[in-house]
Amino acid sequence: MDILSVEQRSERMRRVRQAGTKPELWVRRLLHAMGFSYRLHRRDLPGRPDIVLPSRRAAIFVHGCFWHRHQGCSRATTPKTNTEYWLPKFADNAARDSRVVSALEAAGWRVRVVWQCETDRQEELADSLREFLLCSDRQA
Ligand SMILES: [Zn+2]
Repeated sequence: MDILSVEQRSERMRRVRQAGTKPELWVRRLLHAMGFSYRLHRRDLPGRPDIVLPSRRAAIFVHGCFWHRHQGCSRATTPKTNTEYWLPKFADNAARDSRVVSALEAAGWRVRVVWQCETDRQEELADSLREFLLCSDRQA
């Protein structure tokens, strides 16, 4: 028997969806350690970026390699069954991601996508993020 009301269930789902994913938490910790201050999930921006640094006009997305189709990445596997389900879903995600980046850039934001697999190489990622955030004059 289902003991959760519809509201309770959707509240629970909402919390699960909104909870920081592990790679995202790691990127936040890294930025904090580097002394950057940031906002999370700004609803007023296209795509609700995971991390926003308003003073640097920078938006960061932390993307899972599988869902967001990290090109050439071993984690971006394509399931062999139910391809009629997966392929349109992947195409939708990719189309949405590129629309969001274009909209942000058109509004004057610089965008950096951090891939989940990049968080395996933490020092490289730290250097790369530092460069992205400090070279604020450079065009992305
Ligand atoms: Zn990847």
